[in-house]
Amino acid sequence: DRAPVITIDGPGGAGKGTICQLLAKQLEWHLLDSGALYRVLALAAIYRNVDFTNEEALGLLAAHLDVQFLSGDNGVKVVLEGEDVSKAIRSQECSDAASRVAAFPRVREALLRRQRSFRAAPGLVADGRDMGTVVFNDAECKIFLTASAEERAQRRYNQLIEKGFDVNIDRLLAEIKERDARDTGRKVAPLIAAEDALIIDTTGLNIDQVMDRVTEYVADVL
Ligand code: C5P
Repeated sequence: DRAPVITIDGPGGAGKGTICQLLAKQLEWHLLDSGALYRVLALAAIYRNVDFTNEEALGLLAAHLDVQFLSGDNGVKVVLEGEDVSKAIRSQECSDAASRVAAFPRVREALLRRQRSFRAAPGLVADGRDMGTVVFNDAECKIFLTASAEERAQRRYNQLIEKGFDVNIDRLLAEIKERDARDTGRKVAPLIAAEDALIIDTTGLNIDQVMDRVTEYVADVL
């Protein structure tokens, strides 16, 4: 399918999720939250006691993952084997586990086609780490959102508190830095801006300001 794609990549907590949701809604395009796929896989592995170092087992699990994304009134509901796991996949344990399983080439390979199947008319907004570099490297519009680790930790903290999780900001910052290192340092599809991506540093910017820059760029390019 040759529907247009806007990719938004960047580290955790840079505001990609919120921006992608707003943009998809505004354009009335489809949305792919690829991080949620890795999170669901991690949760499925936890449920089934699959060893996080067993690449073959994780690859098989990824290939047969029974996951659905259902859009409703309050955003997208993530369903694993019939169970609503929208909240469960946002835990720190799942964030950590997701970035571990995501380092395996077989896992990434197994999720490629599934991610590409989200590309449909009138268009797709794709949120992740390698949307512009690998999965949709032919996308017509690529954006890379980033922010300082401290600011991202603070944003994640606010988000998690709002969702009712009990979190510690110092631990969160340490985990964000650890996850950055793992996502940036891995051999396959490392976190990096595509050569043709617009890089936006959102440190000190609020959602409206980031959204203004994004929509301006999108209007320019499309
Ligand atoms: O974006 P989110 O924090 O939900 O992603 C969770 C983890 O999934 C990331 O830390 C990263 O390791 C992995 N991921 C990935 N490639 C993507 C999206 C997420 O490797 N496209």
